[in-house]
Amino acid sequence: MKITILGSGTSTGVPYLNCGCEVCRSKDPHDARLRCSALVEYRGRTLLIDCGPDFRQQMLRRPTPQIDAVLFTHEHYDHVAGIDDLRPYGNVRLYAEERVCSAIRRNLPYCFAETHYPGAPRLELHTIDLKPFTAAGIEIQPIRCYHAQLPIVGYRIGPMAYLTDISRIDDDQLPLLDGLEVLIIDALRQTPHFSHYMLTEAQALATRLGVRRCYFTHICHQMGLHAAVNSTLPEGQALCYDGMEIQLGD
Ligand SMILES: [Zn+2]
Ligand SMILES: [Zn+2]
Ligand SMILES: [Zn+2]
Repeated sequence: MKITILGSGTSTGVPYLNCGCEVCRSKDPHDARLRCSALVEYRGRTLLIDCGPDFRQQMLRRPTPQIDAVLFTHEHYDHVAGIDDLRPYGNVRLYAEERVCSAIRRNLPYCFAETHYPGAPRLELHTIDLKPFTAAGIEIQPIRCYHAQLPIVGYRIGPMAYLTDISRIDDDQLPLLDGLEVLIIDALRQTPHFSHYMLTEAQALATRLGVRRCYFTHICHQMGLHAAVNSTLPEGQALCYDGMEIQLGD
């Protein structure tokens, strides 16, 4: 499996517009973060997790000839705003919970009209619940997480789990994360936030799960400089950066 972090930034991206902080002014490319998304290549298939407003730019940076399915975590703009840009990928299957499917249909009614609007993307929206499902032949396990009060989903795919925009996970979900090799998890910054884990909360979950490799994403400019924060992390943990590739197994 290969996971490519297409975007490692929070909803505003980094730099934050009109901010003069040292992170937003940094010349280190690791400090420039597009909106949060990841590409998972596994068993000959390519799955995209979330499709935000930077999707087109992400694909220009990293040309990907084929996307077999898109998994959505929730309906916030930074996770769904790139759907129209899926057009060049042909018939794409989208997977999301019912509430998220409704939001997508409401935002892009012309994509789901009875009569196909010429030029509109050809999308197939599939409603999921918390049961395992198959997307492009790959078994996917949804993981219930909470984003403040909003129920959202993270995904386990084989030995990897991707949990973004999380501020709480209940104990009953933890067995679904047993035996993970890699955890990619939300860590907005180093101070508390009402709807996101801060770094120490994300680390605590990784420790509880006994995960040896943990990567932090959905990072905002208040995290601090990438190089400085990364150097404080223990072995097996790292901040994500845009374009980062994580290899595991076959
Ligand atoms: Zn987000
Ligand atoms: Zn800033
Ligand atoms: Zn969100």
